[in-house]
Amino acid sequence: MNTKDFSNDWKWQIANRIHTQEQLAEHITLSEKERAAFEGEIPLSFAVTPYYTTLLNSSALRKTVIPTDAENHVGTGELADPLGEEDHRATPHLIHTYPDKVLFLATTFCSTYCRYCTRSRIVGKPLTFDVSTFEETFQYIEQHTEIRDVLLSGGDPLTMTDSVLDELLSRIRSIPHVKMVRIGSKVPVVLPMRITDELCSLLRKHRVWLSLHFIHADELTEETQQACRKLADHGIGMVSQTVLLKGINDNTPALIDLFYGLLEINVKPYYLLQCDPVHGSRHFRTSVEKGIELIQSLHGSICGLAVPQYVIDAPGGGGKVPILGKEQIRRDGDDVVFLNYLGKEYRYPDPLI
Ligand code: SF4
Repeated sequence: MNTKDFSNDWKWQIANRIHTQEQLAEHITLSEKERAAFEGEIPLSFAVTPYYTTLLNSSALRKTVIPTDAENHVGTGELADPLGEEDHRATPHLIHTYPDKVLFLATTFCSTYCRYCTRSRIVGKPLTFDVSTFEETFQYIEQHTEIRDVLLSGGDPLTMTDSVLDELLSRIRSIPHVKMVRIGSKVPVVLPMRITDELCSLLRKHRVWLSLHFIHADELTEETQQACRKLADHGIGMVSQTVLLKGINDNTPALIDLFYGLLEINVKPYYLLQCDPVHGSRHFRTSVEKGIELIQSLHGSICGLAVPQYVIDAPGGGGKVPILGKEQIRRDGDDVVFLNYLGKEYRYPDPLI
């Protein structure tokens, strides 16, 4: 398939997502290992937009969305909910971990599913959210005047229709103590045709920041660049979160290409995230020591604006901890031990072999 073979209508892209091995094999030649993975049990949701399928000749991107047998193996210390979000669930749609910030789970739907998703326990699962079920969550935010920052995520909220998003954002924006509304999304990367003028105007109206999920410079296609430039032209602030992934982006040249490419389209590299120890993620995770070497290789050698913070999201809900150097961590066998912002000790499972 090439871009001429599919519609640029975002709803068509969603309606025609690739769900099965047979559909995928119509577009790319699957390796024996990939075919074998489809024959077995696939524990995580699988879907790819027709658009993103055209990028899968990139071996880096291919690994991020096509199932492999490795995701069936649950390694030591891996959890279904590595960030302990369920322990902080305040309403069916809301995770309240930090004092002034909440995570609003607006949908479980993504147009394309990443194989290392922290929230794989819920994404793609048949939980249909409806704005009418959000009221309890709106009331919770209203009652908790310490909440200043609402991050809409899921799933990918930009897969919701303009009218649903408008209703949701209007209601959140009507709460006076909410100062900041962000949306976490991979849509400009996997479904760039969703970034219409109407959507941009809507995001502008509600003064939304976007926290975008980029993995590799191969994602910076003409379509994605246009989508981000359109968002920038509408005054939408954009930052990126990149998960550090073994064999995909865990080398200095790949990171430099990505981070400079993002700056060119007005996206500030924000976080380089150590991959969360979610079930079946062992094959994606680099060592923390390697992450430190990589971030140190960027500091001082490229423009500071292009350098994100390297962070570990402390397993169990300790929050994001910026890691600057090896002196901040301690090895205890297969665990890396570090302190969070409250001085509390956390462990990241990081097997030596
Ligand atoms: S886009 Fe985000 S929420 Fe959706 S599967 Fe990927 S990592 Fe998970």
